[in-house]
Amino acid sequence: MGKIKVGILGATGSVGQRFVQLLEGHPWFEFGALFASERSAGKRYKEVAKWFLPYEMPEEAAETVVKSMDEIGASDNDVAIMFSALPGPVASKVEKSCAQAGYVVSSNVAVHRMEKDVPLVIPEVNADHLALIEVQKSMRGWDGFIITNPNCSAIMLTLSLKPLMGYGIKEVRVSTMQAVSGAGYEGVPSMAILDNVIPFIDREEDKMESEPRKILGTLEGSEVKNAQFTVCASCHRVMVMDGHTEAVWVKFEESVSVDEVKKAFKNFSSDLKTPFAPEKPIILREERNRPQPKLDRDAGSGMSVSVGRVREGRMKDEIKYIVMGHNTIRGAAGASIVNAEVLVQRGYI
Ligand code: NAP
Repeated sequence: MGKIKVGILGATGSVGQRFVQLLEGHPWFEFGALFASERSAGKRYKEVAKWFLPYEMPEEAAETVVKSMDEIGASDNDVAIMFSALPGPVASKVEKSCAQAGYVVSSNVAVHRMEKDVPLVIPEVNADHLALIEVQKSMRGWDGFIITNPNCSAIMLTLSLKPLMGYGIKEVRVSTMQAVSGAGYEGVPSMAILDNVIPFIDREEDKMESEPRKILGTLEGSEVKNAQFTVCASCHRVMVMDGHTEAVWVKFEESVSVDEVKKAFKNFSSDLKTPFAPEKPIILREERNRPQPKLDRDAGSGMSVSVGRVREGRMKDEIKYIVMGHNTIRGAAGASIVNAEVLVQRGYI
């Protein structure tokens, strides 16, 4: 099988750069086209991307002339998959027209995540929700389709909740400490974040409170019935470059021991076997001061989340722990790539 050509929408941004870096040398995918705003269009990628990753810019991407959204479809008919890292208002229109035109859109963006016929997927958790693709294609009459991955904080939380679902989760409370790269390259001015914590991230708490319930919900016929527990989130920006850390409190229907929870984390495995799927999606740390972004964000090449400090809450039926993961890899570009790999593996592409 030859490699599948992919396009990146928003290729010059924080997540777009991660796509470019992660896709270099991918065994199944190769660069087809790079897209960004009118500001960058017509120029070579190396002239317009403010590259800040600690790796060389892939040569093939560096010399590629960036295209504008208006050029989609004009000369990239051999591109099968569009990875999207566009700002919401732009993605809202562009992703739909790509799907209509026959592309498979694997999106990081929030705009379509909660639409009933759009799969919101973490493949180790709810690959069965990919069945919504057929619903979407027949309802909308599109040749292509859109699949989405969760918000960067929601993905860490949801992965950590999956092994605990069998114990009857009643309520989740979570407080986040989110890295600056999550706000995009132009996101938080250094004068605002240095020596500081910003206790507000626009629309983040809504996503944290809704997305895990869809992902952990059950597919019944042509729709997903949300999981029944509630999530209450407080989200904060901290002075960390990469890696979102979250303090989580889980209240169960009945009391669950710390050992049972640790065992559930330890035994959680994945049978995906695709290039980006980590062997261990969850890594349990036993040290009392782990996980930490600086030490643990690259676990499983940035695709594993680390949990630690598993302990009893104040009530018998409550457990608390810390979960941490790389926000632009597991929380964004890597998540879209593994979703696309699973689509290939299951014959959707
Ligand atoms: P970013 O660094 O600001 O990058 C935005 C990208 O979109 C750039 O390539 C930019 O191109 C392009 N763009 C901006 N305005 C455009 C327009 N009018 N038309 C076409 N292209 C336009 O943002 P980001 O952090 O990468 O985030 C991108 C998306 O991913 C957002 O929807 C965000 O919510 C989501 N997301 C981000 C993270 C994260 O950790 N950062 C995690 C999960 C999801 P130019 O360079 O030409 O301006």
